[in-house]
This record gives sequence, structure tokens and C-alpha cells, in this order.
Amino acid sequence: MSAAHLPPLNTLPRAARDLLARLGVPATRLYGAMAARTPLTGEILADVSAAGPSQMEDALARADAAFKVWRAVPAPRRGELVRLFGEELRAAKADLARLVTIEAGKILSEGAGEVQEMIDICDFATGLSRQLHGLTIATERPDHRMMETWHPLGPVGVISAFNFPVAVWAWNAALALVCGNPVVWKPSEKTPLTALAVEAVFARAAARFGDAPDGLLSVVPGGRELGEALVDDPRLPLVSATGSTAMGRAVAPRLAQRFARGILELGGNNAAIVCPSADLDLTVRAVAFAAMGTAGQRCTSLRRLIVHADIQAELVARLKRAFGSVRVGDPLAADTLVGPLIDGAAFDTMQVALEAARDAGGAITGGARLDGTALPDAFYVRPALVEMPEQTDTVAAETFAPVLYVLSYRDLDAAIALNNGVSQGLSSSIFTCDLREAERFLSGSDCGIANVNIGPSGAEIGGAFGGEKETGGGREAGSDAWKAYMRRATNTINFGHALPLAQGVVFDI
Ligand code: NAD
Repeated sequence: MSAAHLPPLNTLPRAARDLLARLGVPATRLYGAMAARTPLTGEILADVSAAGPSQMEDALARADAAFKVWRAVPAPRRGELVRLFGEELRAAKADLARLVTIEAGKILSEGAGEVQEMIDICDFATGLSRQLHGLTIATERPDHRMMETWHPLGPVGVISAFNFPVAVWAWNAALALVCGNPVVWKPSEKTPLTALAVEAVFARAAARFGDAPDGLLSVVPGGRELGEALVDDPRLPLVSATGSTAMGRAVAPRLAQRFARGILELGGNNAAIVCPSADLDLTVRAVAFAAMGTAGQRCTSLRRLIVHADIQAELVARLKRAFGSVRVGDPLAADTLVGPLIDGAAFDTMQVALEAARDAGGAITGGARLDGTALPDAFYVRPALVEMPEQTDTVAAETFAPVLYVLSYRDLDAAIALNNGVSQGLSSSIFTCDLREAERFLSGSDCGIANVNIGPSGAEIGGAFGGEKETGGGREAGSDAWKAYMRRATNTINFGHALPLAQGVVFDI
């Protein structure tokens, strides 16, 4: 890898500051002690003012006050604010996408895709604002009507991860806002700048809307302790938290302690089964994107490939060529497909996993760091393909880096058992042209997402997103995920003159 494929030093801090200014981030947000770095070079882009306890209290109090106003605004009018936000995002798309690339290290098209996902969920939520409807239900009593109505829940806390620094927040916020709930957002400490940029874009939409209450959106940059403060605050009936399973394990009991709702979107360890009838050209492309895209730093990244023994040699040979030739380097360069890891800790974790896989008999191709002389604080790695004799503890753990383990199978039920034989349950795929195999897999996979002839990553917003087991059980984005952001009331109305009791109970006075 020549130095020409890596970004130059001393240009990104200036580029980021220009983008932040164009996106409208006030300079006051950028004087502080919290360093925002770029994984492209490891340089500090800006020093952000982290929120302290008093700023957190202010954000929560303003959200609480805003809720009292916002919940009474008709839902389609609330949808108008989200529609305007979508318009402002369209106008800001190029700048915000570039900032995502600089701060999170995604390639340009993925940075743009992340902002497009925000726009898509705004469109979805705008339509949804006229469809927050409940059921009418047959009652057993004469002259009665029973129905469900949905009501705003209260301010929503959102805790987000570095790898989708803005889109996952938007899935939550767009729905929360049309459902009548203000949002307090604690972004990843690794990506505060994109959050501040989104706050500025949202402020423009709110100004155009006219009478949006102050406090509908507050961004509180900071670390784990701020996340804990959100989780424990009784003014937030719902906290949506995206991140590692370790984070969810800490958050879940604290939410349960105060009977708050949680939407937990945690780690994944996603598999794909490749059957003998699979279209291998399509499979190689799908596996390449799912395993190497975003440098393996998606919750839905493909980490385990379960291949039928009859086609393993051919598929592995083709994948080795793809893994060996994929362009790794500066994500701002148009021809790059794999950018950097987020930081040195991610690189160390990857190397520890590869070492453990080697000790367990794994045959490793790739995985080395590109020459780090010019950029000692940036971590570019060649994606690793590891042929494993069995599903070891290392394979069963999520390593948040581009490592694809290859396992072999002969019987489809055994392959599905391997797919399900890990503690996470986010996403899964099968590659087959056999309808029976596809259907057996779709009913057999224990994951929240199960696909046929596409990889496990790259979901659209129209479906509900989330996973089972240690992935946390939450669902976000499309379908009926909005119901988690509202309070359901069951209403029974008597329009007669008698008072018949349910179940034939008699209570005559
Ligand atoms: P992380 O767990 O280190 O941090 C995520 C967020 O949680 C950060 O904002 C962090 O400050 C906060 N946090 C950490 N501990 C906390 C605590 N005890 N209480 C409250 N907040 C706390 O995760 P990361 O490294 O930023 O992201 C990578 C992980 O996120 C991977 O495991 C990935 O699979 C997962 N992820 C899951 C999804 C999903 O939808 N299932 C989406 C994206 C990322």
C-alpha cells in the first residue's frame, strides 16, 4: 500500500472546521476539553464542550417542559416539523456526509448513504404522523364500544454508537418527534461533531416551523457517565440505547429498576449460509460488501460464513482474491472501499481475536495493518479471512473489525444450528436457489433479520430493525416500531343505559 492511498496530515482539522461552519454549528459548541478525533489520520479535529451535570439537568428540564407543549400539537402538524427537517437534511446532505466520513471513517458513498437514511426516515415519519391509529375491538357487552388510542409517551433519551453516528439517532428521533416526544441525545464520545452538526440542521427546521417549543432536541456530548445519567432519569420513560452488549447489560437493569422502557440495539455476530445451488457471482459480491464494508464496523457486518463443503474450495479461493485486492485507504478518495478502523483499541482487539483464531487452528489470510509510519495514530487494516475448523469461542464473540470466519457444513440443519449457536441474534442470510432451503432457513434462523440472496447488512428503513438474545430485543425504524414511542390506552365506552359487567359478573346494589 503506497502512501498515496492514505490521507495527508494537516488538512482534515481545517476541512472539518469549514464543514462545521457551513453546517451552522455555533463556535461556542467547539470550545472545550473533549477532543474529537478523525480515524483517517488520528488528528484532533476540534475540542468540543462536553456537557456537565448542569447542562444535562438543563436539557432534561427543557425536554420535560417541551413535552407538555408538544404532546398537544396535532400529530400531522408534528409531522410537518419532521418534513422540514428532511428538507434541511437534503440541503445539508453533501456537507454532513463528508463530515460523517471524516469523523467515523466511512467511505464517501456510505457517509452519503447514512444521511440518505436520515432523509428516508423523515419521509416515513411524516407519513406516519397521519397514521398513528389504533384498533376498534368487538366487546362482549351490548351498547359498548372498545378501542385503542395511542398517546405521546414523554421525552426520549437516545444513546448512540460511533459506527452509525447520525442515522440510528434519526430512526429514533423522527419517530419520537411525530409521536409527540422531545429527544435528549447522548452521542458516542467518538463522534460528537456529527451530532452537533445535526443539532444545527434541526434548529433550522425548527425555526422554519415557527412555534416549536424550545427543548425538542438537546445534544449532550460526553462519555458513559452522561449515558448513565440519561438511563437513570425518571423524566425519560423511554431510553433507546445502541452500542455493545456490555453497554446493554449495564443499561437494562438500571432501566428495569425504575420500570422505564428500553429499546436496546446491541452487538451482532451475523452469519450467512452458502448452499451448493447458490449463485456464486452474486454471493461473492454480497459477502465482500457485508464482511468488508464499513471496515467490518457495522452491527450487521458478516462475521461467519457457513459454506457447504462441496463449494467451499471454489468460494474461498474467490473470496481470497476479493479480500486481497479490495482498495483499503483514505475513505475520502473515490476509489476506496475500506476505510480505517475507528481507533487503536479496535486494531488491538482485532489482533487478539486473530491470534486466538490461529491458536485454535484457524488459517488466516490478511489482517495486517498497512504501513503505519506516516500515520502512527491511524489504523488501516487489510480485511482478514479465517478458515476455522469449528465455531470456537473467538468465532462466537463479536469482534468489531473486518474479520470473516469460514466454517464448513454438509447438512442444512447443522448449518442453521451454527447460525443460531451464538449469544447474539441480529442478522442472518442464506444464499441458495432452492426454495425449500430458503424457507427452512427463514423459519429456522433465530435472528431479528433473516435474508435470502442478500447479505446480512444494509437494511432499509421500511422494516423494523433489531435483533434477539444478547442483541437486546429492540426494534427501530419502520413497520410498527413507532408503537414503542407511544403509550397505548384501551378505552371502553358505554352508550346504553344499563351497566352490564364483563364475564357476567352481577353486582346489583
Ligand atoms: P459502546 O457500547 O462502546 O458505546 C455506545 C454508546 O453507549 C456510547 O454513546 C457510550 O458512551 C454509551 N455507553 C457506554 N456504556 C454505557 C453505560 N454503562 N450507560 C450508558 N451509556 C453507556 O459501543 P460502540 O463501540 O460505540 O459501538 C459499537 C457497538 O455497537 C458494537 O457492538 C455494535 O454491534 C453495536 N451496534 C449495534 C447496533 C444495533 O442496531 N444493534 C447498531 C450500531 C452499533
